[in-house]
Amino acid sequence: MASGSGLITPGVNGHGASGIYFLFGVHVVKTVSVTNAREPNQGIVALDVEGVLIPEIWIAVAERTGIEDLKRTTREEPDYDKLMLGRLEILRTHGLTMSLIEEVISALNPLAGAKEFLDSIRSKYQVILLSDTFEQFARPFMRQLGMPTVFCHRLIVKDDVIDDYELRQVNQKQKAVEAFRGLNYRVAAAGDSYNDTTMLAAATKGFLFRAPTNVIAEFPEYQAFTTYQELESAIDAVLGE
Ligand SMILES: [Mg+2]
Repeated sequence: MASGSGLITPGVNGHGASGIYFLFGVHVVKTVSVTNAREPNQGIVALDVEGVLIPEIWIAVAERTGIEDLKRTTREEPDYDKLMLGRLEILRTHGLTMSLIEEVISALNPLAGAKEFLDSIRSKYQVILLSDTFEQFARPFMRQLGMPTVFCHRLIVKDDVIDDYELRQVNQKQKAVEAFRGLNYRVAAAGDSYNDTTMLAAATKGFLFRAPTNVIAEFPEYQAFTTYQELESAIDAVLGE
């Protein structure tokens, strides 16, 4: 190694990577300062999926299969575990296999204009979809939407039969948004239901989209929109440069 020659040489013992340099024989001449942005200036969009980009999956499956009991939702049954176990029992009773349900879901389409809206905001921001559905149900829709990143839960399938379900994490939407903010991102979030409101509260700015009137009435602190154009403009106002 050069010594006393005036060459600037990266420091040893691991300091080179940190930007500390030594001018041999003279003194330390340079440290590279790396500071975090104090205010979050980069944006992420967190979007609910069912009711915002795609139809309610269980209702769609009920309509396609003609099984009315599958139309029961959290509005009729507030106990989610009871609701899901009931749905799985209905699937077993009717002999509905995972592949059959995937086939049904594959024939469904995202909501009109959803793909164009998503493409447009993905061209400007990082977009993460946060859904309380299951990855097996979401997959056919995600293919149609250009495979955006989606965080959701998982069905446990054995021999093509849905045996059980597994929540990856309780209240995962809120926790994801909190984590993004912990990474120093501004977060614009939008959803349509009660299970979105904690995520909206955690975001830099939250919006309701095509929410039922009771949700809009209970949460007047969130602007409520019905068109993708309105929502995109609101997101731009929060995250746009
Ligand atoms: Mg929803």
